[in-house]
Amino acid sequence: MRAEMKRLNPRGHSKDQKECLAFLRQIIKIRSVNDRLNLLEKKAASAGYSKTPEKHEKAMELPLAVVLEKKAKAMGFTVRRIPAPKAGGYSLWVEHRVKNSKTWVVLNAHMDTVSDSAMELPGGKLARKKHWVCGRGAVDDKGSIASVLWALKAYRAEKPQRNNAAALLVPDEEFGHEGARGSIRFLKSLGRKRLVIIVAEPTSFEPVVAHNGVIRWRVHTFGKAWHSSDPKKGRSAITSMLPVVEALEKKYIPGLRNEGQLGTRPVCSVTQIKTSNSDNVIPDQCTVTVDRRYIAGENERGILRDVGRVVGKLKKTVPRFKYQIKLVSNVPPLKHRPGDARVKAVLEALGKMGIRKKPRGKNYATDGGVFSEAGLSSLVLGPGDIKKAHTRDEYIEEEQVLRGIEVFKNLLGAKIGK
Ligand SMILES: [Zn+2]
Repeated sequence: MRAEMKRLNPRGHSKDQKECLAFLRQIIKIRSVNDRLNLLEKKAASAGYSKTPEKHEKAMELPLAVVLEKKAKAMGFTVRRIPAPKAGGYSLWVEHRVKNSKTWVVLNAHMDTVSDSAMELPGGKLARKKHWVCGRGAVDDKGSIASVLWALKAYRAEKPQRNNAAALLVPDEEFGHEGARGSIRFLKSLGRKRLVIIVAEPTSFEPVVAHNGVIRWRVHTFGKAWHSSDPKKGRSAITSMLPVVEALEKKYIPGLRNEGQLGTRPVCSVTQIKTSNSDNVIPDQCTVTVDRRYIAGENERGILRDVGRVVGKLKKTVPRFKYQIKLVSNVPPLKHRPGDARVKAVLEALGKMGIRKKPRGKNYATDGGVFSEAGLSSLVLGPGDIKKAHTRDEYIEEEQVLRGIEVFKNLLGAKIGK
């Protein structure tokens, strides 16, 4: 029997570690796919092609939020719901308050995932891998959620406790960042100078102190619909769109040459093209989506103005050129502030743990950008490999989740404030 036990549990996980991994497997099964973009598109299509409705009524993260709230309460923590009205739901604030005057170390993770339609089927080769936790959200970001909750629990059992500790679990990181946005006022009320936020995302524990923002917009062109058996009577919106794509790719994108902090740089791509109507109609509307990653120092107004100029110039050369540019979403960059004492203190604490990785800049975006824009000290750091996120075979190694508990627990107790 003992030999059998040993074989089943070769790494000798403690009771807490086993519970954490079991909970992670449980919450992966709770679907929390963020399909706000799809829903908005469908609504937009029924409301008129170019309109973009602003909010979604009910959050798809709610079933998960219910389970997380229940678990955190069962663990003995005080839980508060912070409304995220534009996401149709709320964030969860799970706290262990030591003393009001102490610094808050906040571990932030997100409840939503990208689509699971392209996932490997259950029972595939991944499921047979030992010591991996597989499924949509495993690494992005449910592994972090599990680590964060068990880190809070481990920290609570330690003495002395230098800081106040909290988990901030938010909806809508993958699209509108409305969970993070909705939490700003509450976070500021704790005292901006007595707060540091660790955005728990898969970085293999590499500290990311700067990253890009993302702005997305659509360009619509318009023509005249007509039966394709008599195309001369119509005017194709596709024909008007071709010079737009060409202008973006040949004039606008090559001009993005400035360099941001820690190696971040602006990049831009046309990521979607769609038309109205059907196979046998000359399309009267055509739409492209443009995804633009931008660096600290750039902003929405400037970016849209520049694009507007490049596209607007086509009026001179393209006959009867009619177009519209519409903003879809914008999340600001995480700005590196080298003098930020609280971020420095976190980096020092990581060094003491033997994590001496250089602070890095990345081209992706996280909720860290929203916190950064609000002037809150934040950096991105967490278990698992970003390359496994958003993929067909998403997984996280058990070892990373358990290491996350240790790393986060130590950061909660690090010398950060006075
Ligand atoms: Zn994520």
